[in-house]
Amino acid sequence: MNTSTVGQDIYRFIEELYPICRSITGDGFRTSLEIMAKYIPLELYKVPSGTQVLDWVVPREWNIRDAYIKNSAGTKIVDFHQSNLHVLNYSTPINKKMDLRKLKEHLFSLPEHEDWIPYRTSYYEENWGFCVTDKLLKSLQEDEYEVCIDSSLEDGYLTYGEYYLPGALEDEFLISCHCCHPSMCNDNLSGMGLSMQLAKTLSQQKLRYSYRFLFIPGTIGSITWLAVNRHQTSKIRHGLVVACVGDPGKLHYKKTRHGDAEIDRASMHVLRHSGQEHGIIDFVPYGYDERQYSSPGFDLPVGCLSRTPHGQFPQYHTSADNLDFITVDALGDSFEKYLEVIHVIEGNKYYWNTNPFGEPQLGKRGLYGAFGGRKDANLLEMAMLWVLNLSDGEHSLLDVADVSRMPFQIILETAEILLKQGLLRE
Ligand code: ZN
Repeated sequence: MNTSTVGQDIYRFIEELYPICRSITGDGFRTSLEIMAKYIPLELYKVPSGTQVLDWVVPREWNIRDAYIKNSAGTKIVDFHQSNLHVLNYSTPINKKMDLRKLKEHLFSLPEHEDWIPYRTSYYEENWGFCVTDKLLKSLQEDEYEVCIDSSLEDGYLTYGEYYLPGALEDEFLISCHCCHPSMCNDNLSGMGLSMQLAKTLSQQKLRYSYRFLFIPGTIGSITWLAVNRHQTSKIRHGLVVACVGDPGKLHYKKTRHGDAEIDRASMHVLRHSGQEHGIIDFVPYGYDERQYSSPGFDLPVGCLSRTPHGQFPQYHTSADNLDFITVDALGDSFEKYLEVIHVIEGNKYYWNTNPFGEPQLGKRGLYGAFGGRKDANLLEMAMLWVLNLSDGEHSLLDVADVSRMPFQIILETAEILLKQGLLRE
């Protein structure tokens, strides 16, 4: 597969969804899922406001139509239709005139980046506000301002999207991404785009595991999903939270709570053999929805594969996390790594050497010197010896790859050849 083509597809999808004002509930979130449903057969689920979910309650639904600040001359100095980040996400409605001092209590800016608009939310505490550039904030004069936020906060639903792709096993691989941020590309949209592309690609492959893709609002979405699906979380054998996969920074893998799950080993294996600089991060109970999946009651093996981790790039949660910040190459490269990790997990089986007393004679089976035409012939022969030696029912192919320090793909290919020759059995 051509990664730049995939990167372009993901980028185009991000462009399509970028203008929509999303939040943890409401029309923007639903519209985004409806667009995704054009590409993959996504099931939409609705959970009513007020529903108790674990220790939380599904909040009222937030919708917004317009918001602005006008000066006394009637000029709009802040306009929601210019950037949906201008409104404090989940702002209660307001339509009032006020002086500068009063207005300033509800304005947020970023003094360290005077041209950027910050992204702020107030989901669980009723408030209203505007996010503006620091340049604008500093230019405001004493005046009577007209403040309007045409929003509603009413009983409705929390919506989430789910796509289940059945494989040979009932055991599941969970792919989860948050979809609740307004116009921001790396945090949120890149994860949605990559997950969707992964769903499309995997739906055309023969799979051992079943895959469950979740498109949810951050925190409250994973908590709601876990509450609704409590009885079936034990099927989840591996999981990845997808976020921040479009910036040009190096890849990072954040380990699961236990740190030695198969998904940890597969992800670290892929990064180690990528030849690219990368980072490995130990589990911390902070970050994206892996926090909820990794709460001790559920304790699911869910890691997070990202590029620059959240909060560690200056554009994080600002208007600068835009279409210029993410790149086609980074998106394509991240996608490729996700697919490689999945292929490791898919192919990571245990085998028995059917001829374990002494080395089987490879020459008479046409396996010695059989790869003469290939550049990696020596590697393949070495891999054959490793696979035969460690296939004692106790070492998986990933174990063989790690012990031999060879790429998983070579070990897998070798195992398939040996299997065909009857020298291995599952
Ligand atoms: Zn975020």
